Amino acid sequence: MGLRSLYATYRRRRLYGRCRASDLGVVILRYHSVGQARDVEGYLDPGLSVSPERFRQQIRILAANFRFGKPDDLAARLAGEDDGKPLAVLTFDDGYRDNHDVAMPILLEEGAVAAFYITTGPLARGRGLWISEIWRLTRTMPPGKIDLPPEDLRFMNGDSSGRYSYRRRLTRWMSRITEETREHALDYLASRAGIPRGEGLGASFVTPDQIRAMHSAGMTIGAHTVSHPHLDHLAPEHHGRELADSKQALEDILGNEVRHFAYPNPGGGGSILPEAVASVRAAGFQTAVTSTPSPMTPDADLLRLPRVGVYRGPQEKTLFGVLARGMA
Ligand SMILES: [Zn+2]
Repeated sequence: MGLRSLYATYRRRRLYGRCRASDLGVVILRYHSVGQARDVEGYLDPGLSVSPERFRQQIRILAANFRFGKPDDLAARLAGEDDGKPLAVLTFDDGYRDNHDVAMPILLEEGAVAAFYITTGPLARGRGLWISEIWRLTRTMPPGKIDLPPEDLRFMNGDSSGRYSYRRRLTRWMSRITEETREHALDYLASRAGIPRGEGLGASFVTPDQIRAMHSAGMTIGAHTVSHPHLDHLAPEHHGRELADSKQALEDILGNEVRHFAYPNPGGGGSILPEAVASVRAAGFQTAVTSTPSPMTPDADLLRLPRVGVYRGPQEKTLFGVLARGMA
């Protein structure tokens, strides 16, 4: 192992130790998918997924050290109204079908619960999330010149690292444009790849029936916008539609109030601006989780809660090594 990666691991371990030892005793984990790499690679970067076997081990590590909580428990914890014992809150972003098919059965067998934040736009269209479309298209599209406006998107190298870095830049750009522009860009990329929009992605996303089944099984269902934009790059006048419409769509499916929200952070590295928090409050959400890994402090804002991401590979081994050690 090189010095650079040793140092990165050291820094991660320190950060996770601080999260683990936070005064509030709360760790919120952020997953996307549980599945074998070969099963998810048609619709998602397998790095964002963990294997079913490892997921079960992770749940057992958590069960030995924490009680499983829900977003609804966090207000009581912040108000000092519960027992204060270590609490782990599992969350899943986006709405991949493996959440229902693979993760939920393991959660139920292990006596755990999780919150699932669903992007509602793909529910009506049956062709997956645009991030899945990008993943699929950039894996098969012919390399070379590409006719998209940003300078850094005009050329894609054909090797796997060229495709991977192109996908990252494309995800960032697509999270910062209007839905209409994004749809045009995806139409263009699909035609360039020579495949119909969403081909092969119909089974990658949850259905309304599956959302109802997850809710009936005791899982929390939260919103994750309609079209998965970066709210900080979307004019505040469009926030209402992304927030209120996704909340309403899920409430119509469940016949129940939806109180919890996760900020999309496509491409990573985003901040949460006060305008976005104000929009989330105005839409009536009671908690909102971010993608920022930091310790949860007693003055934490219920509408800007930190989360620690879980990824396939060495990162999660470091993380669960720390979580397994008990309170520092
Ligand atoms: Zn997301």
